[in-house]
Amino acid sequence: MATETPHLDIARRLQEQRQRAPRQNPDRVEATPPVHWPSLGPLDAQREWPLLAEWVDALRVRYQGLDSYVVPACWYEHESLVVALQALKDHERVAYEKGSPGSSGTDWHRALRDITALLREFTADLRCGHGAEYAQGEPYEEFVAEDIARRRRRAATVALGQ
Ligand SMILES: [Zn+2]
Repeated sequence: MATETPHLDIARRLQEQRQRAPRQNPDRVEATPPVHWPSLGPLDAQREWPLLAEWVDALRVRYQGLDSYVVPACWYEHESLVVALQALKDHERVAYEKGSPGSSGTDWHRALRDITALLREFTADLRCGHGAEYAQGEPYEEFVAEDIARRRRRAATVALGQ
């Protein structure tokens, strides 16, 4: 009986360590990386487009000040706007994640202020149209289908070693 005790002790200690490990090393918990649109493959793009579009629509409802001078109707046609909006979406996800510090809500609002200013600049530089006649640029569905096809061709080219 006495010889079993050290083994049981070791087993118990290992189990305790394993249970404690995630709390002791919060950095080691796998984080979801941000979405990088320029390098996204066709399948990932197919998954991410509706998620981003839905989030952008909701954001414009939540913040009425985000008019077409900040996020124009044709935002999805411009990579600079897509990437900036995605950065904001990723920031919000991380800021309100379980385990985030209470101060990260403030970080999110700083990001919202900064990215909104950036979007306003980008949109002015792009000279996107405003008003009802511009509400439908190239329809979203068509643009996304073309974008996914373009990414599929690019992936095929890479696979061929071009
Ligand atoms: Zn535009």
